[in-house]
Amino acid sequence: MWTAPTIESFRQQRHKLMGSVAFVPTMGALHDGHVALMRAGAAIADHVVVSIFVNPTQFAPGEDFERYPRPLDRDLEICRSASVAGVFVPNVEQMYPRQQLTCEVNVPALASVLEGEFRPQFFGGVCRVVAKLLNIVQPDIACFGQKDYQQYKVIQAMIADLCMPVSIQMVPTVREADGLAMSSRNVYLTAAQRPRALGLHKALVAAAAMIQEQGETDPLAVEATMRTILAAHQLRVDYAVVRHAQTLQPVDCIEPALAGVVALIAAHCDQVRLIDNLLIPSSER
Ligand code: AMP
Repeated sequence: MWTAPTIESFRQQRHKLMGSVAFVPTMGALHDGHVALMRAGAAIADHVVVSIFVNPTQFAPGEDFERYPRPLDRDLEICRSASVAGVFVPNVEQMYPRQQLTCEVNVPALASVLEGEFRPQFFGGVCRVVAKLLNIVQPDIACFGQKDYQQYKVIQAMIADLCMPVSIQMVPTVREADGLAMSSRNVYLTAAQRPRALGLHKALVAAAAMIQEQGETDPLAVEATMRTILAAHQLRVDYAVVRHAQTLQPVDCIEPALAGVVALIAAHCDQVRLIDNLLIPSSER
């Protein structure tokens, strides 16, 4: 497995890869969720390429950019075990040369709601870095996790609108045994906070049960139940909503005919901000 710290060295290695390439962009601190993306890539392409880059432009001042975990040696070992062909590990100067004029990339219709409301610069930073990475890596397929469902939808729309020659694959969320969605930020949770963090998954499971088993069609009733569960776990809620799975817009009624809804939550366990979601397809109702 090779590692490339510069765009030029990456391109030299990339050029030698014959056959199809699946790409898994990450910010490192890799866990089994990231490994699932690598495995999904390996199942559909000849080679898997990973990037590890903690992207400063998607963090707002005061967020956790500086303290975001960066266990590079361990990450490279995980990539090696997953039979990754090569890893792009640029520094900030490589990705954002100081004298360069910058470009804005965004999908306002999808990116202005939910995460975009609470982290206004997030999707602009994500779209720009993913567009740059896709242009550098030139993969056939890019793999993204359902864990960041809105991010997946935003990138899917960006790829379609900009006619980027890449297909995009969504990989289901990998969870701990008790249901907590794996996240690089889970290391911030103390032993006392860990059971409270489970409130997100419990609220999502309750929402799915209300819709699928009890036939609840009022999104406001489902959202009230989610908020009650989150409050019982002493979680401060940014949003806990049921949205149209394609547009991420509110729905008046969770109709059986609807293409499907997604329940999405962002909540703070003291200083740790967590997100999770569950797709509730209409075929299961
Ligand atoms: P990150 O390193 O957090 O930026 O995530 C890189 C990629 O891994 C994104 O596409 C995430 O959606 C995905 N990912 C993160 N956590 C999980 C998880 N628990 N299950 C599946 N995919 C995940």
